[in-house]
Amino acid sequence: MQTIDIKNLKANDIIRKCVHCGFCLATCPTYQLLGDELDSPRGRIYLIKSALENNNSSTDSLQHLDRCLTCRACETTCPSGVEYAQLLDVGREMLEEKRPVWQKVARYGVRKLLTTPLLFNPIGFIARHSKAQGVLIKPKKTIGKVLLLGGCVQPVLAPNINHSVKNILAKLGYEVEETPQKQCCGAVDLHLSANKDALKKVKANIEAWAEAEIIISSASGCGVMVKDYATLFDKEDAYYEKALKISQKTQDIAEFLADKDLSALKKDDKKISYHSPCTLQHGQKLGGLVETILQQLGYNPATVQDGHLCCGSAGTYSIFQPKLSNQLKTNKLKNLQASNPEMIVTANIGCLMHLQKGSKIPVKHWIELLNN
Ligand code: SF4
Ligand code: SF4
Repeated sequence: MQTIDIKNLKANDIIRKCVHCGFCLATCPTYQLLGDELDSPRGRIYLIKSALENNNSSTDSLQHLDRCLTCRACETTCPSGVEYAQLLDVGREMLEEKRPVWQKVARYGVRKLLTTPLLFNPIGFIARHSKAQGVLIKPKKTIGKVLLLGGCVQPVLAPNINHSVKNILAKLGYEVEETPQKQCCGAVDLHLSANKDALKKVKANIEAWAEAEIIISSASGCGVMVKDYATLFDKEDAYYEKALKISQKTQDIAEFLADKDLSALKKDDKKISYHSPCTLQHGQKLGGLVETILQQLGYNPATVQDGHLCCGSAGTYSIFQPKLSNQLKTNKLKNLQASNPEMIVTANIGCLMHLQKGSKIPVKHWIELLNN
């Protein structure tokens, strides 16, 4: 675990990059909805700066940080390269002491529920979105092996996603090993400011996945977390180099498929609308990649207005900020359904479950389309 001094140094370095231009305000969903500077990236940077400099932390500041979706649209827009998400993690940990006890208890409960298979599986099974369709195939001739991040909630809520990934990779000649459900990437803990628990999971995963040559993620929320593992350690930390190696060999399934011959996969011209998760377009900087692959396979994803904006899922955001989350979902679904598509597809289990709750048409992971 890093010391608070090292964290403060890192936070100050990030803060110094901000030139207060305000370009990020135009693409921040919470600023668009609330119109309050303190609910914008620039305002939140100011709040974290004052907490660092004057120890001027308050419950009010904490609320503004809580309302942030960690969507990272501000990072995409920022001309100065401010690593806002890393700063936010420091700010949230610093302000956590201001949180009322009842909120701490609720957040602890949600964290444990989502990351403990024994607790989550019975509930997840009832809320199941889809079951695995068709048989699991094996590669005819193996040309490589990959480690698939199974995820903690995805295998229970939508097992057809990883089932589809395995079949697609088998058709391309890859053997797949799936990580067990208990190897959660740590994102749920980190985003609920339980940094110690997150680091415990991260270190265990780094050790467990050290031998893998390629790590594939089919949930962009997990993928961005693993790709960011190295940012959780100081460069002097013994885990830094190991974390960097894990991050460097992790790819979203779209990245992995981008340079492969996909002629063996199903082609279709179904009318679809694609929701690009923030964790893919802003976190992993892979905006446009899924759309390109889908177009190559004959699909025609509609142009979606405000495609850069978050759908309001944002991990556990929909649980703790239901009003804002629902507003964002309503806006997103209106734009996704404007072209009268037959189906909405996305690339992250959180967005999928969130959008499905208000959608008139089916919502699936785009990878499921390729395995029919
Ligand atoms: S991460 Fe998203 S919600 Fe948070 S400040 Fe940046 S743009 Fe706004
Ligand atoms: S766009 Fe970047 S530099 Fe400009 S105010 Fe926002 S965070 Fe600061």
